[in-house]
Amino acid sequence: MAVNKVFVLDGGTLPMPHEWLTYSVGKERGAYPSAIYQVYCETTEGKVLIDTGFRSDGPLAKLLAPAKQREDQLITNQLAKIGVKPGDIDIVINSHLHGDHAGNNGLFKNARFIVQRTEMRYAYAPLPHLGEMGYSRGDFDHRGLKYEPIDGDWQVVEGIETIFTPGHSPGCQTIIITTAKGNVFILPFDALIIREQVTEPWIGPWDGPYVCMGYLYSLEDSYKSIYKILNLAKTRNGQIWFGHDRQFFDTAKKAPDYYE
Ligand SMILES: [Zn+2]
Repeated sequence: MAVNKVFVLDGGTLPMPHEWLTYSVGKERGAYPSAIYQVYCETTEGKVLIDTGFRSDGPLAKLLAPAKQREDQLITNQLAKIGVKPGDIDIVINSHLHGDHAGNNGLFKNARFIVQRTEMRYAYAPLPHLGEMGYSRGDFDHRGLKYEPIDGDWQVVEGIETIFTPGHSPGCQTIIITTAKGNVFILPFDALIIREQVTEPWIGPWDGPYVCMGYLYSLEDSYKSIYKILNLAKTRNGQIWFGHDRQFFDTAKKAPDYYE
């Protein structure tokens, strides 16, 4: 029972206002070219996909225009690079249900979907300013998809667990992958979205040396989750893969190359 290979899938780029990524600061820096990536894990317990990316015709891509997604960055073509078809995927883990993370859920008809229950509930009735901009039923609400709502931390298969890290959204989860070779990768997605949140010296009205991201459900929970993730990285000796970080993504090994 083990995770043998971990692939980073290139899902394109969405320009996001910088202050969405760093709370209340950075506006003068303009749009940040957010990397959108998904992660596929080959395990002895099945094929596991983490997040499904965005639809270039979805409302979020339209809002954050110009979205950049080449033909080869479609999730179907990224999976094809490693010989996997959407129908082969056994388990999808959604970090949360925003349109750049759950946009292609409808393609994975044979998968079980692991999503936090609070996230599922909220996605159907978000606050008005988060409607369409964050959640779109056209992304995740497809007849026949097999959702398995979970509450809190969860062992998905051996070597893949989810940790409840709310704040950016009510039910954000961080995924921890421990490979057969003993490497630990910590994937917070939007709970820790770019590296500069925890590496730049921040001066402002926030508490502590870190800045939480700026597109929030709860500021307080978002901070708690950042500390939780940093602590996990320390205690598990894990490498954090920042959620939309351009530099992380550009220097990461990408499919068909993989981590072990
Ligand atoms: Zn999000």
